[in-house]
Amino acid sequence: MNGRLELTVLGCSGSYGAPPGGACSGYLVRAGDTTIWLDCGNGSFANLQQHARVEDIDAVVITHGHPDHCVDIYGLHVLYKYGLERDCLPVFAPEGVDKQLESLVGAWDDTFDWHLIGDGDGTTIGDAQLRFSRTDHPPPTMATEIRHANRRLVYTSDTGPGWSPEVFSRGADLVLSEATYQHDDLRVPIHLSARQAGELASAAGAKQLMLTHLWPSLDPVASVLEASEAFGRAVVLAAPHLVTHV
Ligand SMILES: [Zn+2]
Ligand SMILES: [Zn+2]
Repeated sequence: MNGRLELTVLGCSGSYGAPPGGACSGYLVRAGDTTIWLDCGNGSFANLQQHARVEDIDAVVITHGHPDHCVDIYGLHVLYKYGLERDCLPVFAPEGVDKQLESLVGAWDDTFDWHLIGDGDGTTIGDAQLRFSRTDHPPPTMATEIRHANRRLVYTSDTGPGWSPEVFSRGADLVLSEATYQHDDLRVPIHLSARQAGELASAAGAKQLMLTHLWPSLDPVASVLEASEAFGRAVVLAAPHLVTHV
């Protein structure tokens, strides 16, 4: 077992795909010898195949049932079943997501081994320890903490300001936070502004903050400046294919 905890951004476009090639939420997490596909937003599966062999994926985690976080599981099902002829890949998702997505494929058959995740649950996937926390977002949505070798990654998934990464305990090495909006243009309270992302990560004692899920038409430089001011130091902006050692 090696001590690597590595995050690769497969897609980070907020709510809908943005040109050029802006896939929606998807991340590859490597923890030791374990490979996890965390959220399968539209476009992320194509990007995943540039960074990993599909047969090396140990599990999939879907944080919630909004399409920009889950629809590419359809492609994995097709490849797994008809290309690789494999079955029973563990997929972790909140209640109802498996049934919701099954209409895409007719029937899952035994392609995936579905596991239900809820607020406060924890599980081990190979070398990774995971915990989940229900966020402030309309469908059941699970922020996800992944730990390996004393390193800790917290992914907020989608959330409004009524949830904080601090619920997993302070001082995460990296908080990967949604920052859909900017503070002078807060549209609906089910997402964060960049300033709110910075404030919440700062209050949670995060060592590093990466912004993701930006609304595609907004100026990302303005989001970075806004979040950096609130966080108290420079934040990182997610981009497809960015690889970070947590
Ligand atoms: Zn989203
Ligand atoms: Zn959402």
